Amino acid sequence: MGAIAAGLQVCRERIARACAETGRDPAAVTLLAVSKTFPAEAVREAWQTGQHAFGESYLQEALAKQDALADLAIEWHFIGPLQSNKTRPIGERFAWVHGVDRLKIAQRLAEARPAGMPALNVCIQVNVSGEASKHGVAPGEALALAREVAGLPGLKLRGFMAIPRETDDTAEQRTQFDRLRALLEQAAGLGLDTLSMGMSGDLEAAIMEGATIVRVGSAIFGRRSRVAAG
Ligand SMILES: *Cc1c(COP(=O)(O)O)cnc(C)c1O
Repeated sequence: MGAIAAGLQVCRERIARACAETGRDPAAVTLLAVSKTFPAEAVREAWQTGQHAFGESYLQEALAKQDALADLAIEWHFIGPLQSNKTRPIGERFAWVHGVDRLKIAQRLAEARPAGMPALNVCIQVNVSGEASKHGVAPGEALALAREVAGLPGLKLRGFMAIPRETDDTAEQRTQFDRLRALLEQAAGLGLDTLSMGMSGDLEAAIMEGATIVRVGSAIFGRRSRVAAG
């Protein structure tokens, strides 16, 4: 078995174990393979093991990979920071966008989404750690933004996403993920179903707090030589 297939198997086992411990159905947790900085061939290798959803953070790199892998029916997720001048290709070429943190970006994505395509699935990124370096709307403003984004044509608001403060302390990981879960509960009237949270180092804590999408890169593909933007 190749290294990528082995990494995927280990991740799937980690997800299954965390679900078993909390009495959750593993089918309710989607593994998003984060392939940023890795070549198209690595994505193809992962695809061959049955992995069909991939996340990318850098637009030019993502578009090149999409072109190289056009023969595969990949579900592409854009998980990087969003800039107004890049919303058109993102609105046209992805199935999901996880990092929406202002209304203007959501409006531009809605305008960019071609009429013939299914609605673009979006999550609102919330800055659950309050770190100045992090993208995301403040938790106290997330519900108001969610209500506005939910009304935009061409988009389907699915839920919330977070990149918490990195820590090895499971209790602190869970406290941060719990903030996102609380928001999903408060947004009950909006019909949301997604908590995009948990990465290579903290996916178990995220699953215990209700994650429905875990975004995993290095545990599948290996160490990145480039630093991730987030
Ligand atoms: C890079 C990245 C990930 C994956 O991180 P790993 O620690 O490699 O699993 C997940 N989410 C976002 C938003 C990222 O930028």
